[in-house]
Amino acid sequence: MYTAVFTINMDAVGNCPCNPSIGGTAKGHLVREIDALGGEMGKTTDETFLQSRMLNLGKGPAVHSLRAQIDRNHYARVMKHKLELQENLEVKQAEVTDIKKDGDLWLITTRMGAQYKCKAVILATGTFLGGKIFVGDVNFESGPDGMFPASFLTASLKELGIPLRRFKTGTPARVLRSSINFEGLEVQEGDEPVVPFSYMNSEKELKNTAVCHVSWTNSETKRIIEENIHLSPLYAGIIEGVGPRYCPSLEDKIVRFSEKPRHQLFIEPCGRDTEEMYLQGMSSSLPEHVQIAFYKTIKGLENVKIMRSAYAIEYDCVDPQALYATLEFKEHPGLYGAGQFNGSSGYEEAAAQGLVAGINAALKILGREQVVFGRDNSYIGTLIDDLVTKGCQDPYRMMTSRSEYRLVLRQDNADERLTPLGREIGLVDDERYERFLKKQEMKAEELKRAESIVFPPSEKLNEILVKKGTSPLNTGIRLSELLKRPQITYDDIKEIDITRPDLPRAVFEAVEIEFKYSGYIKRQKADISEMRRIENKLLPEDIDYSEIKGLRLEAREKLNKVRPVNIGQASRISGVSPADISVLLIWLSAK
Ligand SMILES: Cc1cc2nc3c(=O)[nH]c(=O)nc-3n(C[C@H](O)[C@H](O)[C@H](O)COP(=O)(O)OP(=O)(O)OC[C@H]3O[C@@H](n4cnc5c(N)ncnc54)[C@H](O)[C@@H]3O)c2cc1C
Repeated sequence: MYTAVFTINMDAVGNCPCNPSIGGTAKGHLVREIDALGGEMGKTTDETFLQSRMLNLGKGPAVHSLRAQIDRNHYARVMKHKLELQENLEVKQAEVTDIKKDGDLWLITTRMGAQYKCKAVILATGTFLGGKIFVGDVNFESGPDGMFPASFLTASLKELGIPLRRFKTGTPARVLRSSINFEGLEVQEGDEPVVPFSYMNSEKELKNTAVCHVSWTNSETKRIIEENIHLSPLYAGIIEGVGPRYCPSLEDKIVRFSEKPRHQLFIEPCGRDTEEMYLQGMSSSLPEHVQIAFYKTIKGLENVKIMRSAYAIEYDCVDPQALYATLEFKEHPGLYGAGQFNGSSGYEEAAAQGLVAGINAALKILGREQVVFGRDNSYIGTLIDDLVTKGCQDPYRMMTSRSEYRLVLRQDNADERLTPLGREIGLVDDERYERFLKKQEMKAEELKRAESIVFPPSEKLNEILVKKGTSPLNTGIRLSELLKRPQITYDDIKEIDITRPDLPRAVFEAVEIEFKYSGYIKRQKADISEMRRIENKLLPEDIDYSEIKGLRLEAREKLNKVRPVNIGQASRISGVSPADISVLLIWLSAK
């Protein structure tokens, strides 16, 4: 028995068809969580990045998020090689055209006619399934980056009764570096020191090697797009698929935010050995001649040469409410969905779901209990619960605002939240686990030290406090109390903290957050215990909600569609009111 991964084109493995970057707000949290569980995304990003920045440092630690500009080709090569080296895994270039049930097994057939009998199958077709490209009035069947689409599987999935719908997304042009005038453009540098994505790496090994540049659209850009908006396949109604609300095309931004005089763009390198530059924030599906005209209105792009035009892609994906939180299909045991196929958008969201579907398909085959990631332990859990419980009407992008526990689900403590679970599942190897235990030990020691160290009042201490805009002292103070002051960080007091051990920066940051936010964290943990209490109120699988008196009609329909596994999930279904939940609780207690 072995695992096989099928792709229409081997060069699509690890390919980033849109922005050449990994992470960003909330997406960085997902990458850290994948890493904490033993995944490869964080390590590969650290190995192939060009520039790294911690976003939102001006705000609280709940929204601090890592984002790295990557060498796109290098990233794909490294990922593909890791798959090729993986024991018990075969990577196959073959288009799957048919899937059907064969007794307890799944039978898949490729375009060449090869057949494979499988105990479990994970569908992660991305933007390839029924892929169709749009540039102005030109459209044709294609996957991203000029690759073949998956043209046959949709029919087979529909035969199985799988609820599919059309989504769309778009990408900007790639332009020639030497055709850009960088003079006068704002330069965006990476952070020093670089914070690694992977808990297996330390900042000492990582260096930025590239910068990004910032520019803006202007009234001329707006005029050209407004004058040609009738040529947009989106506004001409040619594109049926629903696009991502939080990654709008430039024409979308111009129409939806018409009061805004300008829109920001980032000019990002795509790699060390390529002259392609990515225009972040400028995706479009307008005709090529209009693209050339509006790009040339932008400062720095006056003489721009387009290498790859911007385009929109429409594709088939599933209604994720057809899935359990294990990502297994409710109606098709052994069949799983992952990635963009589940209605999400983004590399990080796709990778997180691929990991969960992979874990559960393997556990199912091994006869072990499958794993559900909760909203209380991870953004992975929040992502999947949102998809399978609330569903999505447009491509779902992860954001920190989607989590009600974001102060507990920070990007810095993903290992504390998930590495023990990864170890239990069998994904976390000894090296990673020992490194994790060591870090926990260091943190516990430092917490103890901070609680025990008392700094006597001194001129030096008061000088620091006054300089940081907080009140001076005339009595001694514990290190922990000092760190509770919002203005004071470990860096600020290193001169007086002479017994400080030499620990990784991540340990000091984790301890500082514990002290600074202890009250909020305590409150959020209390909310989590309350949530767990109602999450544990399980609902029988075979309920016919239309028979429960007192439930409103909409609630009956939604509950019968989603079939929640517990009261907590039921309470998050849109259209199920608190009154409906009370009816359910009474019904349950009468059982
Ligand atoms: C034009 C475009 C714009 C995008 N815009 C955004 C954006 O704005 N924001 C954002 O966050 N993300 C965006 N994305 C990124 C998107 O999230 C990614 O496409 C992400 O890579 C999805 O990952 P995935 O693994 O689900 O699918 P993909 O990376 O698309 O991989 C799917 C894999 O499945 C294979 N496959 C499909 N069907 C079959 C079959 N029948 N048989 C065998 N193999 C098959 C393909 O060959 C491919 O290897 C965009 C992508 C594209 C193409």
